[in-house]
Amino acid sequence: MAGQKLNPPSLLAEGGERTSGWTALRMNIMAASVVAEAVKSTFGPMGMDKMLVDSLGDVVVTNDGATIMREMDIQHPISKMMIEVARTQEAVAGDGTTTAVMFAGELLKEAGRLLDMGIHPIVVVHGYRMALKECLKILDKIAIDMSDDENTLKAIAKTTMIGKGVEQALEHLSDIVVKAIKSVTSVDSGKVNIDTDYIKLAKKAGAGIEATEFINGLILEKEKAHDSMPARVEKAMVALINMPLELKGKEIEAQISISDPHQLKAFINEQKATLKEIIDRIKSSGATVLFTEKGIDNFCLSILAQAGILTVRRVGRGDMEKLSKATGARVVTNLEELSQADLGYAGEVEEKNVSGTRMIYVRECREPKSVSILIRGGTSHIADEVERVIEDCLGAVPAAIVERKILVGGGATEIELAKQLRLSAKSVVREQLVVEAYANALEIVPKALAENAGLHPIDVLVELRSQNTKEGYKVGLDVFSGRIKDMFREGIIEPLRVKKQAITSASEVAVMILRIDDIMAATKLKLPGPEEILQMTGK
Ligand code: ADP
Ligand code: MG
Repeated sequence: MAGQKLNPPSLLAEGGERTSGWTALRMNIMAASVVAEAVKSTFGPMGMDKMLVDSLGDVVVTNDGATIMREMDIQHPISKMMIEVARTQEAVAGDGTTTAVMFAGELLKEAGRLLDMGIHPIVVVHGYRMALKECLKILDKIAIDMSDDENTLKAIAKTTMIGKGVEQALEHLSDIVVKAIKSVTSVDSGKVNIDTDYIKLAKKAGAGIEATEFINGLILEKEKAHDSMPARVEKAMVALINMPLELKGKEIEAQISISDPHQLKAFINEQKATLKEIIDRIKSSGATVLFTEKGIDNFCLSILAQAGILTVRRVGRGDMEKLSKATGARVVTNLEELSQADLGYAGEVEEKNVSGTRMIYVRECREPKSVSILIRGGTSHIADEVERVIEDCLGAVPAAIVERKILVGGGATEIELAKQLRLSAKSVVREQLVVEAYANALEIVPKALAENAGLHPIDVLVELRSQNTKEGYKVGLDVFSGRIKDMFREGIIEPLRVKKQAITSASEVAVMILRIDDIMAATKLKLPGPEEILQMTGK
């Protein structure tokens, strides 16, 4: 058989596809860029929104990076890695998702240029890691200490919210968000703990965003259990119970044999007497409002109504816990034990009709450890977007409170980082070009802010660099006036943690993608074609 050439055996099953080396790298860089391009146009206060339609025709209109990525339904594995960046960013920092994805895309684009120059991917990987380390150090140095006074916290909330279609209610919403966060903040032996799980977000379309309400207590999508119960109770003494108030009917038949109808009647009467006794106990504890996780039958409801006790039944377990945190009541399982000490307090409990749905407000609680926000919007799509914006704030504001460090927005931080990185690049020989490429990639932030505001990105960049040299690291682009300003003075501030996380996860995913030189797929991979790219980027 000498001289006969053997084909190497395929490692993959039939239908699989293997892409190696340069082609694999190029394909991956392209897939990542497509995703980054898709979110870029939404970036910053002047960013546009995306309309996403799923296979069932459901529509989401949003400016939120993480939501866009989640809903885009992208199949390419590299795109999935990018989506993961957005997801992690959202989970860890609450905000900065678009920054993270866009920066990862830009790092890869720059890497593509370096590869064209003949630089080996592993040198790029190494240089990017060095640059990231250096960036984190610089960030720590330029971060500004913050006080957690209300105005600073509101400024952080506003920077997060601006450009998300809630402009008309910016002041109002930031006020609500800060109030809610303050309610669930506690300091335990010097350690700040912020439990945002105890901020309940309820949502109802049918009124403007300005009608969004803060409730210092709980709001429930429930109604009072009996028509003749009061719809409003002031200075409410709240009892929380976890036990059904029901006559036992069928179960009894199974347990005892009844030979004569009188016996059954006697038995039921006996039960009624017991239930009445229980309700008397509730009444004599001083309770004027009752919430239960379980059911209550009509017999008991009418007694409760006669007693003038506003009752809500079948409340979810999570809401019971929140009610307990808000009012200070203890959830009682054994009613024999119910006493005044178990009751909680709410200044007002009221059933209200909110755009056609009956809701129970439990408010004016004393120092509630659980609070609510009722989100309003003209339509459900608007209310959904307001909810996403508030969720971003519930990530960003606590991040700032815990760390007490902030950075200046509007591209100011990225320009400073790029400048300092370029200076540090001079001291490394082999990776110099790579660290410079990393600095270029950082400048996507002011460039995209400018581009989305209809300004010329290069003009803005040049101006920004020159002002930064003269004035220092607080100057950034104010997209509304199109001018370079001291953005710290303008109140455009962001938590250090958000930026650190965005830069870290973007760098990590870029490095991970650059290290791949072989793709073995069980089925043929579909890379978005030029038309799809056009569709996604809207250009
Ligand atoms: P992300 O998902 O990354 O948070 P956003 O679309 O929310 O993206 O935009 C955030 C960016 O907008 C930040 O870099 C922030 O500094 C910037 N920004 C906020 N307000 C202004 C402003 N008035 N002028 C310029 N940039 C701003
Ligand atoms: Mg944001």
